[in-house]
Amino acid sequence: GFMINREHLCSSNHPFVTPIVPHTIQSITHSSLAKMTFEGKIYFKNIDYAAKDFGNRYHLMPSAVLHPKSVSDISTIVKYIFDLGPSSELTVAARGHGHSLLGQAQAHQGIVINMESLRVSEMSFHTGKHSYVDVSAGELWINILHESLKRGLAPKSWTDYLHLTVGGTLSNAGISGQAFKHGPQINNVYQLQVVTGRGEVATCSEEENTDLFHAVLGGLGQFGIITQARIALEPAPKMVKWIRALYSDFSTFTNDQEHLISSANSFDYIEGFVIINRTGLLNNWRLSFNPKDPVQANQFTSEGKILFCLEVAKYYNPEESNHIDEEIDALLSELSYIQSTLFLSEVSYVDFLDRVHVSEIKLREKGLWDVTHPWLNLLIPRSKIHEFAQEVFRNILKDTSNGPVLIYPVNKSRWKYGTSLITPEEDVFYLVAFLSSAIPSSTGKDGLEHILTQNNKILNFCGRPHLGIKQYLPHYSSLEEWKAHFGAHWEVFHRRKLTYDPLAILAPGQRIFRRTT
Ligand code: FAD
Repeated sequence: GFMINREHLCSSNHPFVTPIVPHTIQSITHSSLAKMTFEGKIYFKNIDYAAKDFGNRYHLMPSAVLHPKSVSDISTIVKYIFDLGPSSELTVAARGHGHSLLGQAQAHQGIVINMESLRVSEMSFHTGKHSYVDVSAGELWINILHESLKRGLAPKSWTDYLHLTVGGTLSNAGISGQAFKHGPQINNVYQLQVVTGRGEVATCSEEENTDLFHAVLGGLGQFGIITQARIALEPAPKMVKWIRALYSDFSTFTNDQEHLISSANSFDYIEGFVIINRTGLLNNWRLSFNPKDPVQANQFTSEGKILFCLEVAKYYNPEESNHIDEEIDALLSELSYIQSTLFLSEVSYVDFLDRVHVSEIKLREKGLWDVTHPWLNLLIPRSKIHEFAQEVFRNILKDTSNGPVLIYPVNKSRWKYGTSLITPEEDVFYLVAFLSSAIPSSTGKDGLEHILTQNNKILNFCGRPHLGIKQYLPHYSSLEEWKAHFGAHWEVFHRRKLTYDPLAILAPGQRIFRRTT
């Protein structure tokens, strides 16, 4: 080994400046990489796609993109770069499905590893007391769902959208309406195979290489490239009762949500969203939901109002559950939504889980999917959610026409302790997600500039230290901000970086550590 310069490893206080790699270094890189042999293939041309992501705001061109066929392809290239030592400036970014928002899966003049090319083997299922499936980390969750369902099984915890890779969501958390019960996706993994920033292949779990296991889960790609994952499975339901109901009073809404996430017998999925000044909302819902009381629902107007929508789901198997409607009625009877706004739907489990894909298809048809997405995701302690709502929903946001605003509580006591994921200190906290789309070249309220101004107002408010709010899918440009994000956990995060990726080769797009040169 060699000495690690701690100062150097961290990015400076200055806004992050991407180092310009001299031309000579780049051509040396080209010729030496082109000589290496891989089971897969390395590309130097037509690689523009690796400089794009869902956010569509960062476009950093790599030098090369590796399509790995095996784990050893990945360890070979990382080991090669590690062995070049500080004389090289090369970095490596694993790219899952490229659905990051701000360049997190990009590597300026570095090497992008296209994880979807990696097919370690067929998905391998194990059934028993703890059923699981071993998958390649480049696998999309939607494919895992389809394969598992063939065996009557399914993963327990999801994201709202399934066209994301296992490695990509496990590097963040994977939070959706099941997280109150099962914890996020990083809670539902038994074992990982990882290529560290030294190019070493390691297997890790709660029992083996525990520190690496915890480091990598929610680790923002900083400690290793996940190549394989063992995902926990449960028996899959066939059908889902999917329910929406409105509230006009925020406290009533959050009381009901908090009641539902803490009851022993509850729904299987609990989310919610905010609706500010939207016309014809309930009419839109009728395309996929039925009002319980059509006459009353017809008379309800959403225009000019701030409304909160509870969204819940109960899973069932038609041949087993004769009492499903009674069970749901009992659960609903404990809630205080506006009675005329109850909407119900019955869909298959796949259609429920893959629901955002339906919107994707519609938006693609209108050319509104590949636009800029200035998203903002926050984790807010329960005790501060009212202060937050008062300021943001009453004063900052004038309407929610740029995209959904999700809001739902989760119960941290069900979450794994010691991973790299940063959450608020309190046991119950809310995920609030502003999922805006910016209309290309608009200078109005649906344009990028307006949405960013609004996001900044929200962030400025959230920056008040007493609120204890954390960002999910965070993105910062200075070391000070990253340290504030990690708080007391920074020491551990930094120590793990020095252990597993001492040259800071991996995931440079997160802009936490600077490549050691
Ligand atoms: P990428 O964007 O390709 O990569 C993300 C980061 O992980 C990068 O830093 C990359 O270098 C690193 N990485 C990728 N693969 C690996 C690997 N194998 N090993 C190590 N590091 C790796 N998140 C939620 O939690 N809940 C949601 O409900 C949710 N819904 C979403 C809906 C949409 C439409 C979109 C676009 C995103 C959503 N997300 C959600 C966010 C999503 O989980 C993250 O953006 C995730 O990173 C996307 O996965 P990906 O495969 O595209 O990763």
